[in-house]
Amino acid sequence: MQRLVLASGNPGKLREFQQLLAGYEVKSQGEFDLDSPEETGLTFVENALLKARHASAKTDLPALADDSGIAVDALGGRPGIYSARYAGPEATDADNNAKLLKELEGLPEAERGAAYHCVLVWLRHAEDPTPLIAQGEWRGHIRTEPAGEGGFGYDPLFQVPGHRCSAAQLSKSEKARISHRAIATRALLEALQARQLEK
Ligand code: IMP
Repeated sequence: MQRLVLASGNPGKLREFQQLLAGYEVKSQGEFDLDSPEETGLTFVENALLKARHASAKTDLPALADDSGIAVDALGGRPGIYSARYAGPEATDADNNAKLLKELEGLPEAERGAAYHCVLVWLRHAEDPTPLIAQGEWRGHIRTEPAGEGGFGYDPLFQVPGHRCSAAQLSKSEKARISHRAIATRALLEALQARQLEK
């Protein structure tokens, strides 16, 4: 079976991708004692590429990396790639959510549009000049107060159109079906299949 390194230390992501990528043996970067590179890019694509290239170079294996976050229309796309550390380097989800609510204070619903983004990058080797890049965008708006206990990050503030609830109020399986990560993953699988058909 072909081996692949996942450029993430998150065990939940490892399980998810292992399930999706039947036919590959997905290794976590932790198994190779890999550190994470500094995320110096200015876009999700650049940071996912940096992570995939680093993991592939250090392991000599094909690599898969993801980068994700939330982009708020009224903030010109912020917090974007800084989503995890919006309120500071040690920020908790609660700190980040409180900062976001403060920044949007007083804005009506029509001006609170936002989208979760997920970018996946697949490299066949560290110097692969034609990486597969798949993106997922999940649009919604930022609520005026949090709701729900599920999910993580900005989910209690992210109102899901069509469901009349926050992302933190969706069941795990429903979020896994409709999220930015689900959209990007489906696109990546299609791109991989198309590449295999070309051979
Ligand atoms: P990472 O790509 O897993 O490092 O996530 C980056 C950050 O974006 C997270 O720490 C969250 O703040 C935010 N984020 C990404 N995806 C989600 C999501 O599905 N729900 C809530 N927050 C998310």
